[in-house]
Amino acid sequence: MAAENSTYKDYEDCLSTLVRMGSNKQDIIELLDHEKEHFEKAVELGYKPKYGIRMVPDAPPLVIAGYIDFEGKVPEGQDMIDILLAPKQPGPDDLNLAEKIQAELRQLGKRQPGK
Ligand SMILES: [Zn+2]
Repeated sequence: MAAENSTYKDYEDCLSTLVRMGSNKQDIIELLDHEKEHFEKAVELGYKPKYGIRMVPDAPPLVIAGYIDFEGKVPEGQDMIDILLAPKQPGPDDLNLAEKIQAELRQLGKRQPGK
């Protein structure tokens, strides 16, 4: 079975759906508690985030990763960095992406002096 992405409007919706599909509740809570920190920072900055789960939808589902999806405006630049680094312990992917955006912003700064 191929991996699929599913999004959920909030924490409870995501948790209850995954548990109904047969996931271990504690595992999903652990994953969502990390995503929640990204989610809440995004809300604080005025975005409309959703919880996303990448999984192979078996019974129980094989959860590959959690992520945050956005409805409408997608954050970029410093806002995205703030969202990526919101958790107390950002994941390796969070850190890598934040670093990449940081480098792009520095390049942009060089090309537009005074901005
Ligand atoms: Zn993260």
